[in-house]
Amino acid sequence: DFKTVNDSLGHAAGDRLLTLAADRLRGVLRPTDTPARLGGDEFAVLLEDADVEAAAFVADRIIEAFREPFDVGGREVFVSTTIGIAPAAAGERNAEALVRDADAAMYTAKAQGKRGYAVFVPQMRTAAMARLEMESRLRNAVGRGEMELVYQPIVRIGDGGVVGVEALVRWRHTERGLLGPGEFISLAEQTGLIDELGEWVLRTACRDVVGLLRGDGGDPPAVMVNLSPRQLRNPALAEVVEAALRDTGLPPERLVLEITETAMAADTPGNLAALRVLRRSGVRVAVDDFGSGYSSLGQLRRLPVDMLKIDREFLAEARSTQATALLRAIVELGNGLGLTVVAEGVERKDQLALVRDVGCALGQGWLWARPMSIADVATLLGP
Ligand code: C2E
Ligand code: CA
Ligand code: CA
Repeated sequence: DFKTVNDSLGHAAGDRLLTLAADRLRGVLRPTDTPARLGGDEFAVLLEDADVEAAAFVADRIIEAFREPFDVGGREVFVSTTIGIAPAAAGERNAEALVRDADAAMYTAKAQGKRGYAVFVPQMRTAAMARLEMESRLRNAVGRGEMELVYQPIVRIGDGGVVGVEALVRWRHTERGLLGPGEFISLAEQTGLIDELGEWVLRTACRDVVGLLRGDGGDPPAVMVNLSPRQLRNPALAEVVEAALRDTGLPPERLVLEITETAMAADTPGNLAALRVLRRSGVRVAVDDFGSGYSSLGQLRRLPVDMLKIDREFLAEARSTQATALLRAIVELGNGLGLTVVAEGVERKDQLALVRDVGCALGQGWLWARPMSIADVATLLGP
């Protein structure tokens, strides 16, 4: 979770966390073990004269040591550790191959659920190859027309009227079928492919919704488009958005850009400048997944935003009276700041009753509608 800390508490806090983590790592090793930082939030430990069992024992100790929170500038920060173990064959001297194998084992451990360790076996190399293969396919996916958008209605909680749709991307993979964003967005983000993909999403969503505007009667809906942190850092963002609006003819008031709370809280200078420029032209901005990051409610006041989307995890957990009180406080604060508050992930009647009771204006979730094709949106809005 280093990235979350870095994004929401800033780079100085990230550096501090790394230093503390290094100290803690050293604390559980013997003097003959060699710890090193490989980059980012990745560390490596060389254990000489150790068998797999001994390595597993050390891995457990490391994981145990990292369970305790870190004190980063007076804030308690929790992290999770994932470890890949690569045993060297007798006489093996190829460090590069060992690190690569440990990496593949770590990915496997991650895929099996965040915490814990895995020991390298040759099949894992195949999985690493598959990731590379996925990356090269993703590189051509937009060009080959394999990307699609579906749209999920956003409704007034009072009467269920549709006020907007959120564009959600899907990848029609030639062999693996229809993939959700959970399977490729983070890869696109890591490889920088998100810039091209994000621009495609933006243009397609604008064009699709312009199509709806030509329909007869009724209020034309707004379209909400997700922006990834990397897109937010792109200095050309404002131009990309303005070009999409100009070329498709969508009025700026009809576009809402969604940015996660974590990405917004990053204190890199100028990361919100593009949002300020865009808002002056009428484009609206929503904080996505609010309640899932580390940012404080107090920061909300300073963000250049118009809408607040409350994370669906939050609603799923909102059963206790404490959680309900917190939900109520967030909605009241949002309303008080003049923001439109949207409850995400409303699946059941009791959740609807709750979000209505605490004063959310808008909702999104399976209770009203699942994501659908633009043609189905047109039918839904139809005369
Ligand atoms: P998100 O922005 O929070 O989008 C809402 C997700 O919640 C969607 O999943 C939607 O299908 C799902 N959802 C809606 N109603 C319900 C409900 O009642 N219950 C439950 N359990 N889930 C519900 P999806 O389409 O898989 O998208 C996942 C995430 O991928 C999105 O989360 C968003 O962060 C990201 N994403 C999607 N499209 C794009 C895109 O074009 N660009 C970028 N950068 N990210 C995208
Ligand atoms: Ca979203
Ligand atoms: Ca969300």
